[in-house]
Amino acid sequence: MTILTDTIAAAEGIAGSLPQGLFIGGEWRQAESGATLAVDDPATGRTVAEVADAGTADGLAALTAAVDAQTSWAAVPPRERGEILRRSFEIIMARRDDLAALMTLEMGKPLAESQAEVAYAAEFFRWFAEEAVRIDGGYLVAPGGGSRVVTTRQPVGPSLLITPWNFPMAMGTRKIGPALAAGCTVVVKPAKQTPLSMLALAAILAEAGVPPGVVNVFTTSKSGSVTSALIADPRLRKLSFTGSTEVGRALIAQSAQNVLRTSMELGGNAPFVVFDDADVTLAVEGAVQAKMRNIGEACTAANRFYVQRGVAREFGEALAERLGSLVIGHGLDPATQVGPLIDRNALTGVSELVDAATSAGARVLTGGEAVDGAGNFYRPTVLTGVPHGIRTVREEIFGPVAPIVAFDNEDEAIAMANDSEYGLAAYVFTEALERGLRVCERIESGMVGLNQGIISNPAAPFGGVKHSGLGREGGFGGIDEYLEVKYMSIRAPW
Ligand code: NAP
Repeated sequence: MTILTDTIAAAEGIAGSLPQGLFIGGEWRQAESGATLAVDDPATGRTVAEVADAGTADGLAALTAAVDAQTSWAAVPPRERGEILRRSFEIIMARRDDLAALMTLEMGKPLAESQAEVAYAAEFFRWFAEEAVRIDGGYLVAPGGGSRVVTTRQPVGPSLLITPWNFPMAMGTRKIGPALAAGCTVVVKPAKQTPLSMLALAAILAEAGVPPGVVNVFTTSKSGSVTSALIADPRLRKLSFTGSTEVGRALIAQSAQNVLRTSMELGGNAPFVVFDDADVTLAVEGAVQAKMRNIGEACTAANRFYVQRGVAREFGEALAERLGSLVIGHGLDPATQVGPLIDRNALTGVSELVDAATSAGARVLTGGEAVDGAGNFYRPTVLTGVPHGIRTVREEIFGPVAPIVAFDNEDEAIAMANDSEYGLAAYVFTEALERGLRVCERIESGMVGLNQGIISNPAAPFGGVKHSGLGREGGFGGIDEYLEVKYMSIRAPW
């Protein structure tokens, strides 16, 4: 316990040494009102930092700084933009341990997972450092002759990037990397519960050579009113949002007024389908990863498990044994495998969804309750005999709960998997090659993991269909979200 107290104190020391103001035009400043916003450790409820609480004037000042820097940043040679991103990657990796401790302190995930996220976040800078120099164009002889079709790609312009609390750094770098590579300046608004990772990132970007005004960050407790003012401002040209479908919908509606380019990475409700020809041990391993990464608080988290009747019992019991033996605790304790949920509301929400399942006849194989005491801990839970249509299966659980629904045949599994407004990620386990490919093609989602429980990869196009979003982040297409195509018609009378 003394060791842990020391570890927490060390992480609080890292938080205390960070600049905690607004980062605007290359300078750190307080909110105009002088207001601050508390950041709490979700494992203990203790306040670990106070950051500036921006108002509308501060948000607009950040936009002005981005607008002022746009022309000069777009003129910086692509190689140089890439080198700055590459240096940022190096600095993040050199400070990985401190950044991970900071992330766990504000968000709760186990330290090893924070370390994985820091590396994942840095990889987006490395990837887009490489993509900055590959922004291509075209030259075409017009089919009718007499002219040439010449295309080039130009930065969209000042962009507002809004990120969630569940991946406090990677959801930022997945947007900042391509925006900077493309030549866009940005205003970043992190979630109020986890601003510290983004403040640390802003300081690193400045150290790596990002010129003043190219990256601006504001933290606020009034996200709706402040971002509305930016979205209504005709100088803003792009909005990229990661968060809930409900907020995403409202932001798309607001963006219509100025016909903003939008990228939306929204909620998920991933089906995890196990056929009776699957390697059940592999499927259980994949289920642990797909369910427990980030304490279940991931948009890609397996949310509903459809298991063919022949293996449903074996799969459920093995998964319950694995989840029931995971160590719950403060994420900074190296032994911890399951950290706290982000806040009390999240804990209440998860409890309600478990109760809804048991009221509908589901059986608890393990867990099924919150952990008594301080902190927002919920026991990893496996529910079996869950009916398909209930709330627990329809809503995003965002916690360590695995509801199992049995099915009899492939068509039934696909119909249930596709019976959702969401379409972000899906997982399929089968040893039959044709079935695997067929089911991957028939499932309505932007991403599918075949015989694996982790799909996130900086080189892959990340994004959803249906109400899970618009556009893709990462991969070769990630930079396109920040580029406009310009076509020049060249008279060619020869
Ligand atoms: P959220 O409530 O939608 O918040 C996301 C961000 O939007 C936060 O910065 C939040 O600020 C801000 N926000 C909230 N209300 C707003 C408004 N009216 N106008 C403008 N901004 C507003 O989502 P969350 O609870 O943080 O994150 C969890 C959700 O994100 C889940 O649904 C998850 O699936 C989704 N997600 C999706 C992806 C993906 O790539 N598809 C990745 C990660 C998470 P405050 O902190 O001030 O509320």
